Amino acid sequence: MFYNEHMFEIKCNLTTKEKLEILADAAKYDVACTSSGVDRKGRKGFLGNSEACGVCHSFGADGRCISLLKVLFTNHCVYDCKYCVNRCSNDVPRASFEPDELCQLVIEFYKRNYIEGLFLSSGVLKNPSYTMEKICETLLLLRTKYRFNGYIHVKAIPGAPDELLSKAGYLADRVSVNLELPTSDSLSKLAPNKNFKNILEPMEKITGTIAANRLSVGKDARMERSSINKYLTGSIFNSANNSRYGSLSGKNRTALESGTGLSLPAVSGNTGMNRAFAPAGQSTQMIIGATPETDLTLIRTTQHLYQNYDLKRVFYSAYIPLNEDSALPELDAEIPLLREHRLYQADWLLRYYGFQADELLSENRPNFNEYLDPKCDWAVRHLGQFPVEIQTASYDMLLRIPGVGPKSAKRIVQTRKYARLDFDTLKKMGVVLKRAHYFITCNGKMMYKIPINENYITACLMGDNQKENWEIKHQNQQYQQLSLF
Ligand code: SF4
Repeated sequence: MFYNEHMFEIKCNLTTKEKLEILADAAKYDVACTSSGVDRKGRKGFLGNSEACGVCHSFGADGRCISLLKVLFTNHCVYDCKYCVNRCSNDVPRASFEPDELCQLVIEFYKRNYIEGLFLSSGVLKNPSYTMEKICETLLLLRTKYRFNGYIHVKAIPGAPDELLSKAGYLADRVSVNLELPTSDSLSKLAPNKNFKNILEPMEKITGTIAANRLSVGKDARMERSSINKYLTGSIFNSANNSRYGSLSGKNRTALESGTGLSLPAVSGNTGMNRAFAPAGQSTQMIIGATPETDLTLIRTTQHLYQNYDLKRVFYSAYIPLNEDSALPELDAEIPLLREHRLYQADWLLRYYGFQADELLSENRPNFNEYLDPKCDWAVRHLGQFPVEIQTASYDMLLRIPGVGPKSAKRIVQTRKYARLDFDTLKKMGVVLKRAHYFITCNGKMMYKIPINENYITACLMGDNQKENWEIKHQNQQYQQLSLF
């Protein structure tokens, strides 16, 4: 597909409201935004602040956050990704903001308390450099002219020069580059203008720059994870399980500190602000269900991204059939919402529960059980490791019990030093006994006399999960954003 000048003629006669209608609607399929992870107090003379516990603390029924202004800079695009409503071969209304126009919109919405921050993505206008330049111009204006100190999550356009990536990172709180699909083959089939190299290179540079920036202010090179991970011996983030960072000593550390190889160049244009580089880290997004990859492939890719690129989050976006194409599922194909939900559950198990991708699934069983959450599913397939005695089990093992989360596991470990636990106490500690009781003993006794049998326990757990599964599968499939009008 060649670039045609006429395709990108900006419609100057659109009002800002009309542009917003087009560009906020066009952004709704991007799911890669959630709580900021940045704690920044208000500053004298600046507008807005950002709180670690969630700029995006409001979520729509479908789980998408709604308190950021989620918008595209433009939905003009020279690329032709088959799965995308904004691809150049689609005949859809197009619009583009001017940087200052978008800034004014953000500030007005912020002052009216409609939004708490900005999530800015974009189609590729003319080329990646030009688009990224426009994005950076917008962010710079917001931070300087409008003195906006709130949360900004920006999408980096693969193929843009390093200087612009660097600039975006110093102006935004979070930067993300979408992986789009879990394998290079699928990407070349569905997104002919993109390739893994162009996506992974900026991702790697952003990782290196975040690490170098953190080291320069005396922090650990890797992003903070929840404190729960430090109790886990088997976390995928532990140095021993982390191929890139290792123990961050010697050569590795020197390379990061000096910025050689990995880091982006320092920004030449002074932003006038002393800002850390992407303090809320980077994230990415993968579309699921548009290509035939299994869940195993998806979570292996996820684990690889967490370990090697220190991503803060990997987001999954259930494919919504919008375009007719022989390479895509039929237009009436079901949106794989339950599958998306299972992947998010598995993602939590990787990040906070000490599971590895290859423990959850295997080549013989490459997809999650639709009817059971991945942790229950793993437990019933490993009944040999159960029941677990609550008084003596290790923290890692406690976390593997369905119904026990990091908080309750920590409470168990602390409390049992001083007292013997019973089922009532476990309930008060937050253990979900409805699920946990099949897998535990307390002082040598199970809560009920039940057979430790895979079929029996699976049937009971599936009964409990039925309502939730049905609700996820049948939630409103019309994705809706908060109306700004
Ligand atoms: S680059 Fe691809 S996914 Fe992004 S807006 Fe253009 S066509 Fe859509």
